[in-house]
Amino acid sequence: MRYLLTFWICLTLIGGYCFAVSAQEAAQLATQEAAAKKKKEFEDFSKVTEDSKSYQGFFRLYEKKENLYCEIQPSQLDKPFLCMMSLSRGLGRGYLISGMTLNEWLLVWKRVGDRVHLVRKNVRFRADKGTPTGQAVDYSYSDSVLFSLKIESIHPQRRSLLVNIAPVFMSDLPPLASSIGGGARFDKTRSTWGTIKGFPKNVELRVKAVYAANSSMDTVPDSRGIQLTLHYSLSQLPSNNYQPRLADDRLGHFMTVVKDYSLLTSDAPYVRYINRWHLEKADKKAELSPPKDPIIFYIEKTVPHRFRPYIRQGILEWNKAFEKAGFVDAIEARIQQDYEDWDPEDARYNTIRWVVDAGFAIGPSRVNPLTGQILDADILISDGFIRSWQREYTTYFEELDHEHDHPIDDASRFQCQMASGLARQMGFMASVLQARGVLGEDGELPEEFIGQALKSLTMHEVGHTLGLRHNFKASTIHSLDDLNKKSDEALLGSVMEYDAVNIAPEGKKQGDYYTTTIGPWDYWVVEYAYKSIGGSSPEAELPELQKIAARVATPGLTYGTDGDASAYQSRDLDPLVNRWDLGSDPLDFAKQRREIVVELWDKIADKVTKEGMGYQRVRRAFGSLLGEHGYSMYLASRYIGGQYHHRDHRGDENGRLPFVPVPAAKQREALEFIKAHALSDKAFDFPPDLLNSLAITRWSDWGSSSGSSTRLDYPVHSAILNHQNRILGRLLHPNVLSRVQDTELKFPNGEDAFTLPELFSGITDAVWTELDRNVGEKQWSNTDAFISSFRRALQREHLKRLIKLVLDADSGTPEDARSLARHHLGQINSQIQGVLQNAQGRLDDYSLAHLEESQVRVTKALDASFQVQKR
Ligand SMILES: [Zn+2]
Repeated sequence: MRYLLTFWICLTLIGGYCFAVSAQEAAQLATQEAAAKKKKEFEDFSKVTEDSKSYQGFFRLYEKKENLYCEIQPSQLDKPFLCMMSLSRGLGRGYLISGMTLNEWLLVWKRVGDRVHLVRKNVRFRADKGTPTGQAVDYSYSDSVLFSLKIESIHPQRRSLLVNIAPVFMSDLPPLASSIGGGARFDKTRSTWGTIKGFPKNVELRVKAVYAANSSMDTVPDSRGIQLTLHYSLSQLPSNNYQPRLADDRLGHFMTVVKDYSLLTSDAPYVRYINRWHLEKADKKAELSPPKDPIIFYIEKTVPHRFRPYIRQGILEWNKAFEKAGFVDAIEARIQQDYEDWDPEDARYNTIRWVVDAGFAIGPSRVNPLTGQILDADILISDGFIRSWQREYTTYFEELDHEHDHPIDDASRFQCQMASGLARQMGFMASVLQARGVLGEDGELPEEFIGQALKSLTMHEVGHTLGLRHNFKASTIHSLDDLNKKSDEALLGSVMEYDAVNIAPEGKKQGDYYTTTIGPWDYWVVEYAYKSIGGSSPEAELPELQKIAARVATPGLTYGTDGDASAYQSRDLDPLVNRWDLGSDPLDFAKQRREIVVELWDKIADKVTKEGMGYQRVRRAFGSLLGEHGYSMYLASRYIGGQYHHRDHRGDENGRLPFVPVPAAKQREALEFIKAHALSDKAFDFPPDLLNSLAITRWSDWGSSSGSSTRLDYPVHSAILNHQNRILGRLLHPNVLSRVQDTELKFPNGEDAFTLPELFSGITDAVWTELDRNVGEKQWSNTDAFISSFRRALQREHLKRLIKLVLDADSGTPEDARSLARHHLGQINSQIQGVLQNAQGRLDDYSLAHLEESQVRVTKALDASFQVQKR
């Protein structure tokens, strides 16, 4: 309407002069009129932005009601910029947790007529420009046009274009709907803008997004209105003389990977650049020089004063590695002063932030997806890791269970579970210290312990922001004994490990709880990434880089990462690559941990509570101990069918072949350990008073609640069975069975091998020991049963698994394993038959019923398998 009115006034004015002018003038006026009409295709800039709230930054933004107008400068058209998407507030389930980075895209504005297209650049494929291959790549892999936005106005002087970007961000941009599940869809009408901030190099947008789903979800009160806060960070790409550096698979850097079709001669046309900061020596000729621009980390003013020194030490520790790579003071740690009010989201500042009660620490960074240059990093540490050990204990198995079905080989630089694991370690440590009488009545952990844990966590997260991946093999460089003899020395090959807390056996000298300094692997990977080589192109640097990488077989540089430790389909074949272990021999660690657990098992009821206290601490400590016990069995199970894995290249100094099977004697030792302590019921002979002390919290309010627990008492049978079942599942997994059989061929001639029959017999013997006993030796009763309740449950599970192998084996199971399972079912059946015949009324009801039922199930399964085979 306003547009028409303006036009009408315009015509009237022109009309007023019309009769007095010549034909030529009339023609001129007509042209001007046409121009005015043309100009009016766009609304006045000031009109559109009138009454809006404006934000000055990398893009100038105008917020007006539900609209957000973005002013695109002419110089910003056709120029890629970075868009990072993360969840400020998640759902607390799956990967939709607060702080997670979701995606990182390269976007570009393109003017097409009277519209502006928002295009997502294809960064994965490329070829030399101007060549036929380059053209072919352009044709084959196009960019994606995400949105076409109407130009609302053009600034009369700046010539900048004004577009409404609300449709872009008020949408399922990341996209999340499928991750939420339950048929969720983005609801534009209920979603609103959160905070909007502008900075010289970036703008930060928050959207309080509402999704509507059909099915209910346990972490959301009503799934018809799921609230998430999405954070979008739009930032400038740098223009400098950064030279990408080629990656090497012997070391562990995060990478930026592109497929380059110009590289016809290569095995695979992929170019892999490591992610790293742009560091240049101030004095190019000096052996040791400060960088032109150091990497500055700001410790945000919200970090409690008490913890700042540890965080500062954790940041600066990395300078030792940079010095070896030729840089002095490469990293600075500054503390944001109380009067400084810059925003931590400003891309010009790398920050360590302290967030309350979220239970995580992450170290995301912004990276140029074309070159791998790291542009900015912000580390979030939650105070939750220091406090959450006091809560109900969660076990490692939740992570392992999730992982079993989800590959994490490409674990991104955004995923780090260090802090949550650290919280569990603290829970365990607190139980140990309480039981040993070291911890005060208030349950506060020693300052030294918290300081070392926080420094270690900071070194780890800063390591990620420097471009380093996890190294889960790094804890194997020293023996357990040696760890307690060291002081202020590296306990690990790398701080990029998830290391278990170092606990000395009772009565022995306690060394550092956590490593206090970076390890040899950290020096090595920093040298590779940051040493000034001065080649004229990435390829020209290769000879020098190869020399560094060829040191891979040097002791201390051992490496295995997320994909190597992933429980996905039991593919984790190297038993030395573990999260949350310590020492050169994880089986030794497992044994020592089990001993500590057993040492505490009987003491905790008395030691962790004092007069006047509730019993909840006992339950927490018990859960913590049971979790450690189960994990130590899992560590041992990884030796079965295990192979040590090396990344050496042919010709590396002291180079090794990629696979070395775990010696048969070691596999046997691991199986014996599991038989004695996971499959035997002696391990779980808890005093009744302990089981009767395992109380759940009786508060029922928003501060604490027994919540989703279906039982107030402790579900002891199902907890033990869960642990045992995981071990059985691991030992009989198709991949493990196949590996055991395959490794039989990998031992040198004449060397002893660990075989599938040995594995099957070992398990059957351990699970069914009662069948060898003399059932007639006494009269059994229901409270003193021939086969205990733990054992009956375990035997049922074992039968289930053998029957599944015979009737419905998972794909990939070796045929020999099926035959062996059938053989063992037959053997168990005849032994049961023998026991039932000899029992002569002396069996208790439980054992009798259990054995009769087992017999029926085995007989039916064997018959069915015969039928299946006949067909
Ligand atoms: Zn990590």
